[in-house]
Amino acid sequence: MSEDFYEVLGVSRDADEDEIQQAFRQKASEYHPDVSDDPDAEEKFRKAKKAKEVLTDEEKRQAYDQMGHERFEQAEKRGGFDQGAGGAGGMGGGPFGGGMGGGGGGGFEDIFEQFFGGGRGGGRGGGGNRPQQGRDIRTGMSITLEEAYEGVSKEFTIERPEECPDCGGAGHPEDADVETCPECNGQGQVTQVQQTPLGRVQQTQTCRRCGGEGELYSEECSTCGGDGVVRQEATLQVDVPAGIQSGQSLRMEREGAPGENGGPKGDLLIEVEVEDHPEFERDGADLQHRHAISFPQATFGATVEVPTLDGPVELDIPAGTQSGERFRLRDKGMPRLRGRGQGDLYVDVQIVTPDSLNKEQREALEQFAEAGGEEVDVDRGFFEKLRNSL
Ligand SMILES: [Zn+2]
Ligand SMILES: [Zn+2]
Repeated sequence: MSEDFYEVLGVSRDADEDEIQQAFRQKASEYHPDVSDDPDAEEKFRKAKKAKEVLTDEEKRQAYDQMGHERFEQAEKRGGFDQGAGGAGGMGGGPFGGGMGGGGGGGFEDIFEQFFGGGRGGGRGGGGNRPQQGRDIRTGMSITLEEAYEGVSKEFTIERPEECPDCGGAGHPEDADVETCPECNGQGQVTQVQQTPLGRVQQTQTCRRCGGEGELYSEECSTCGGDGVVRQEATLQVDVPAGIQSGQSLRMEREGAPGENGGPKGDLLIEVEVEDHPEFERDGADLQHRHAISFPQATFGATVEVPTLDGPVELDIPAGTQSGERFRLRDKGMPRLRGRGQGDLYVDVQIVTPDSLNKEQREALEQFAEAGGEEVDVDRGFFEKLRNSL
């Protein structure tokens, strides 16, 4: 039986919450331990429940979609925090923003971090020759609101660390002489005992002399200077899903820094920024547009053309509309991620007072005012003054 949450429930990857709930209820009635004769029913029920829990939680589902099943499970097992040396699984975890040049820092909201509430701990502490996953790399990408509306496949270029092509990441020529590191006796790590007010604390650190390799080489690779890593440009393509919002990140698995000791590459995290748009303001899935109408249009009612990201549409303004009134165009906003419907477009109308009038307009407006019983001082009228000031 597949472990994939979507397959466990038998729903498609873009299933909405209702479908997931329904699929779960179906599975629950099949596998409920009180009902089923299937010896594995309890296990199957547990899996279906787990799948439903993750897929009906917006943030968890996003993390799941981005990480894939295996990594998600591992991440969840780690519970986000894993400060101690070593780390549970063989995968370890790249030191996240640990000052290793990963960039990032303030304001960056990775879905992973939102969800698990902290960096991916683990890291280099374990030392030695254990395979370790490379660190994650972060980059930014800017897209237009139109692109966020449609979804877009973007090509971009980054400079990132790659395994040195000359030494294959070893950091030394193949024929270099090797000796056991005298500092750590080949262990790759050194243990220090410190006296603190709370007692003696034993601390294990990666050996500085050999960098955790346990061996010293007579010669360094001249291409990478012994790091085993060189910086290189790479051109990649990423699918940005429709509905993405500023600050959300996309994860490209295994596109980060090379691993150590044969460990897998880290991931590449792309923080997306959606540019401001001259016509629309965005609030989550909803859009807002300010539309100017004239006083006669507001008074008599009118059909006006308003822009949407899907092309212009007609909007009926009823007679007697006031400035600041809001009209809702249902489903004309931004799509929600993974096809969970669409937001609305709110059109706020503003009645525009003319800043200049021709003679006929002025006379008509004066008559209008007088017909309503207003006194109009023609010579020092408001429009006159306004015109003179222009
Ligand atoms: Zn090299
Ligand atoms: Zn050493």
